[in-house]
Amino acid sequence: MTDIVVLGSTNMDLVTYVEKAPQRGETVTGRDFRTIPGGKGANQAIAAARAGGLVSMIGAVGNDAFGTRLRANLEHSGVDTDDLRTAEGASGTAHIVVDDEGGNAIVVIPGANGTLDHLSPGDEGVIAAAGTLLLQLEIPLPAVLAGAQAARRHDVRTILTPSPAQSLPRELLASVDLLVPNEHEATALTGRTDPREAATVLLDQVPEVVVTLGAAGSLYVTRGAEPLTVPAPKVTAVDSTGAGDTFVGALAVALGEGRPMPDALKWAAAAAALSVQREGASVAMPYRPEIEEAYA
Ligand code: ADP
Repeated sequence: MTDIVVLGSTNMDLVTYVEKAPQRGETVTGRDFRTIPGGKGANQAIAAARAGGLVSMIGAVGNDAFGTRLRANLEHSGVDTDDLRTAEGASGTAHIVVDDEGGNAIVVIPGANGTLDHLSPGDEGVIAAAGTLLLQLEIPLPAVLAGAQAARRHDVRTILTPSPAQSLPRELLASVDLLVPNEHEATALTGRTDPREAATVLLDQVPEVVVTLGAAGSLYVTRGAEPLTVPAPKVTAVDSTGAGDTFVGALAVALGEGRPMPDALKWAAAAAALSVQREGASVAMPYRPEIEEAYA
């Protein structure tokens, strides 16, 4: 029995730090280079496992050195990788150039993630045995849809992070229980800049919506109840990469343990606030004892 199954992406982020990004035809010398395990699917899996969930990941890495490292990185945080496939070819990569003004330019190559365009035999059983399915949009949409529909057939709670932002088929949202966009994604999905308005529009298609609002916390809306704003702890943020994934992973654990939504949101905010105080995405994600201490 697994608490949480994540169906999603694993990527190696190849991050180049340079004073000023090169123009076409130009060669410049940069300052630093790092390979950082990422992908929203893997990041949410790690966040949930560190928060105390029993987590299994359905995804694909390539049969390259990055694939070996991406798998080991998940296992290091306690994520079960029995259903993480190794595909022929390259792992997914994100090529990121960060300049001294903090601006960035990114090329994503889906690699092995692109092979996930359907569920494999056995995936439905893995989903059926879980309490919650976490989905994002960094793998082909047909697999996301098939995952959500499998979860619905087995009464498994589905939480979708609609990132990267794109318009979504109604049939996907029809199988989602909780949608968790950030402000930008909520606007992209609805055309509304006000998070309350955006969330209310989304309630036509899903029963519950949480819009994350960065340092301002989160907004929860459901049919027939007043919207609820849950503040984020006041902290000094040094790197907010992966904050949303930490939030969703922790939220899934809290809801799975039966905490009421207001408490679960507060718990998730405590986890995300810890992560933004440290550099990096998955390496910055807190373990359960730290979350409990911050929440208390
Ligand atoms: P994303 O990382 O997907 O863009 P947000 O920026 O909305 O999403 O952040 C997700 C959650 O992380 C927020 O709801 C909040 O709980 C937490 N968070 C983000 N930035 C901060 C911050 N500066 N201080 C405290 N918490 C933060």
